[in-house]
Amino acid sequence: MDNQILLKIEKLRKEIRELDYNYYVQANPKVSDFEYDKLYRELVDLETNHPHLITPDSPTQRVGSDLTKDFPSVEHKIPMLSLSNSYNEEELFQFDNRIREQLLEEKIEYVAELKIDGVSVSIIYENGLLKRAATRGDGFTGEEITNNIRTIKSIPLSLSKKKISNIPNSIEVRGEVFMGLAGFKRLNEERNANEEKLFANPRNSTAGTLKLQNPQIVSRRPLDIFIYYLYSDEKTFTHHFENLEYLATLGLKVNSNKKLCGSIQEVLEFCKYWEQNRNTLPYEIDGVVVKVNSLEQQNKLGSIAKAPRWAVAYKFKAQEVKTLLHKITWQVGRTGALTPVAELEPVFLAGSTISRATLHNIEEIERKDIREGDTVFIEKGGDVIPKVLRVEIEHRPPNSVRSEPPLYCPACSTTLKKVEGEVAIYCDNPDCPAQTKGKLIHFASRGAMDIEGLGEAIINHFVDQGFLKTFPDIYRLKERKIEIKELEKFGEKSIENLLSAIEESKTKPFDRVLFALGIRFVGSGAAKKICGNFNSLHDLMKADKDAIEAIHDIGPSISNSLISYFANEKNIKLLEELKNFGLTFTSKNIAGAPGKLEHLTFVVTGSLSNFSRDEAKLKIVELGGKVTSSVSKKTDYVVVGESPGSKYDKAKSLGIKILTEDEFKKLLII
Ligand code: NAD
Repeated sequence: MDNQILLKIEKLRKEIRELDYNYYVQANPKVSDFEYDKLYRELVDLETNHPHLITPDSPTQRVGSDLTKDFPSVEHKIPMLSLSNSYNEEELFQFDNRIREQLLEEKIEYVAELKIDGVSVSIIYENGLLKRAATRGDGFTGEEITNNIRTIKSIPLSLSKKKISNIPNSIEVRGEVFMGLAGFKRLNEERNANEEKLFANPRNSTAGTLKLQNPQIVSRRPLDIFIYYLYSDEKTFTHHFENLEYLATLGLKVNSNKKLCGSIQEVLEFCKYWEQNRNTLPYEIDGVVVKVNSLEQQNKLGSIAKAPRWAVAYKFKAQEVKTLLHKITWQVGRTGALTPVAELEPVFLAGSTISRATLHNIEEIERKDIREGDTVFIEKGGDVIPKVLRVEIEHRPPNSVRSEPPLYCPACSTTLKKVEGEVAIYCDNPDCPAQTKGKLIHFASRGAMDIEGLGEAIINHFVDQGFLKTFPDIYRLKERKIEIKELEKFGEKSIENLLSAIEESKTKPFDRVLFALGIRFVGSGAAKKICGNFNSLHDLMKADKDAIEAIHDIGPSISNSLISYFANEKNIKLLEELKNFGLTFTSKNIAGAPGKLEHLTFVVTGSLSNFSRDEAKLKIVELGGKVTSSVSKKTDYVVVGESPGSKYDKAKSLGIKILTEDEFKKLLII
């Protein structure tokens, strides 16, 4: 029984880690927040019922990390935690009950604030001047992004002079950086005109912008902030609401839509009001944050692993709207699988106009009995692809017929196939132009080879012109400069930019190349793990099923898919060509035997030069070890990079074995 539950838990953890990586690090979510939250809750419920199966590396025990290795890391003096969620009235009352149980007869006040859908940052002011700004990172360590934060006009570089005499020498403020709806729309219009990939929503464009290396580009993006926390050893107000008001007097931007509430009922009214009226705001909110007002009570309540006990996020339901479904069309993806798409009467929802929504597959259409001509409800929860929720049967036209899947490929007219046991229908023509385009679009996309300027429209155009058919054709485009110049829209400068982006893509690491190839089931997370365990394409091609499946989280569907990919002569020829063009097929990562760190507990501190801290932690976990965030007697090793924090001192005082980065690398290989 436990075994089955463990498998289920592991599967959920794997899925959530992959989604976290796409959301926090790549700023490119793969599912809606609502779907993510559903998976997350399922994991929380399983772990609550089986607490002995909780591990420190479970996503429920850690703050979702946005650490890359592109910025210097800084330790947070006070951890930057996440928030627990509540989704309805009942859960909000449960939160209030938990607080009351702990505080007994004490009077409790709450502060209700809008939950701005952005990215949290910490900003330190010393002697009134902005000194340092950092991201949340993994909650304990963030990334220093001072130069980017300094470009945001609503963040004062020096605190209000009027009150300078009252300003403590050192204060830390925290807030949410966000992009207003108008600015977001403008930015995406510009990107569309430049054929750049569009941002899915304002949150992702904020996260992506804060991680840019060039502050000049950041300064042109319409970022804004609301500040919601104050920490200072010197300034000791007793209540959070007072802190917010004080922050405003310092010239910091504090959201005025906040309320001091004497009861949870009052909080609920605030939540309901803003759930109804969220669309009147010029920025996106995804809920209300409820905080205990008294700082003394906050201290008494304390925190759990990833969130304070004295606050909760009341999350709004995903927004939905009614519209007419004109037609169901079928799109051929890069693998040949067909996806049904609802062509809708354009309708405005959650900041953008929607004219298409995914219908997933034929089973979904049958289950919901969705037909052309139906009135349907569309959902978009501050997220990526809108979807059709349900049909309003009363408005179904009398002559409506059930939707049937097509028999022939809409792009090349090949008879479609259905694989036994799978829902999808496929076009198996290897020369199908829709598949060719899909594969090339994936290859050049941001998470893969990231070729700026080679977006969907250009790829479609180049395929139609006969310039592109396979991946190596991309690296042959420089031979067709004259022909490209003759195409409308292509000036000398844009060709040069495109060709240099193509050249630059050759330096992309092995795991990106492996992902870009579009091998079935090999997503970006799997590609990273595979390349962390095989040093080269050569080694991977030699590996048998067992060797591939020995990698943590890599199962038979991936190993079978890789083996059949390498068994195809055509693919080998393609790989040879790409190799000759100079693409990267070797890994700098260090291989290690799975399970070799079993029963060992690690803490990683300071910045490492060969890995980001997250990569080092992932490596330890992959090899069976455990990673914790603080040093205790139970710690076996502390891996120490440059500028380590207090964990290093604690490890020394407890006599824990310290590993330099080189020693750590050796431990992984031997
Ligand atoms: P969160 O966004 O649910 O809540 C915590 C954050 O709220 C804080 O870190 C802060 O940034 C923000 N916040 C906004 N206004 C605030 C205010 N007034 N006071 C205090 N904090 C305020 O938590 P999270 O850990 O940042 O993210 C988890 C959520 O992100 C999930 O619940 C999910 O909805 C989403 N997510 C989605 C995906 C996906 O693939 N779609 C993946 C990972 C996470």
